Amino acid sequence: MKVVLISVDSLRYDASRILWPYFNIVFTQHYVSNNWTLPVVARMLTGQMDTGLNYYKKMWSENIYQKLKNKLKQPTVAKYLKDKGWITFGNTEGVFVKSSFGFGKPKEWTLWVQNNKGDGSKLREPLFTDNKNEFRFYHEYYLHNYLRDIKDMKVGTKLIPGTKGAGIKVYSWPLPKEKGLLEWEACYWRRAANLYNFLGWVPKSKAIVILTADHGESFYEYYDNISHAGAHMTEEIAHVPLLIHWPEKGMRRIDQFTRDIDITPTILDIAGIKAKLDGRSLLPMIKGNKKVNGTTMTDKYIHRNDELWEYYFSPTQKAIRLVKKI
Ligand SMILES: [Zn+2]
Repeated sequence: MKVVLISVDSLRYDASRILWPYFNIVFTQHYVSNNWTLPVVARMLTGQMDTGLNYYKKMWSENIYQKLKNKLKQPTVAKYLKDKGWITFGNTEGVFVKSSFGFGKPKEWTLWVQNNKGDGSKLREPLFTDNKNEFRFYHEYYLHNYLRDIKDMKVGTKLIPGTKGAGIKVYSWPLPKEKGLLEWEACYWRRAANLYNFLGWVPKSKAIVILTADHGESFYEYYDNISHAGAHMTEEIAHVPLLIHWPEKGMRRIDQFTRDIDITPTILDIAGIKAKLDGRSLLPMIKGNKKVNGTTMTDKYIHRNDELWEYYFSPTQKAIRLVKKI
């Protein structure tokens, strides 16, 4: 058996619609639990609410680096599978989502390293090892990097306090807000549409292919936010795609409420591995079980201006119900 999990950074739910024809199972109410990559990927890959990286105290603090050095508190899906003899490979390129998450290097590693610039190269069809159970995880920044397409964008570096010279990229552009926003959005949607060209291999793949995202992207729909990190947990940020290519299960549109922590239990269930996790397997829904089995969830995040906010997910509302400053 082969399973591929693709996480397209910044792919909001509505931008994923162009990819629906490639997948036979579409979850229409899939939500992530935070507004930036690290906490969501940690939850996605462990199936646990508390990964030790549910970070909301202060963005980019040294605390995060310290925690990452010690790796995750919980085993990732890769560890469970590896223990059962699966080959597990993964690749991402951000500062955070690296070997701490327990993946080895795939055959295509050299190719990836050559092209490891968020150019969509990790969205190519994987080269599998024959006759082995194999799991792949790709976190691809191609869409996130639409920022690079913006004319006159200036990229600076801001040093992260408490680290030995580690920095994050800071983007700014000189256009007035309205014109800049149009340009910003156009670059995003051009790249989102281009995902269709990268993923044409999916419908023919013999692997089960799961596509999701770590968060969406906002363009001033609510409040005064652009981008995602530090944005509010609105539909544009928290509602992301969950699409599965698994032809033998037939065509399905599933409108039950699902979350990032459900991904790992689902993959383990597909592999026949039992584990006690906070998330639940979505396999019963894929098999046609209509029973709603949701749970509510509250969590916190920090806004750009350092305010602490709280949000509340409701399975009956199938949406974020409340976002409040605390
Ligand atoms: Zn991200």
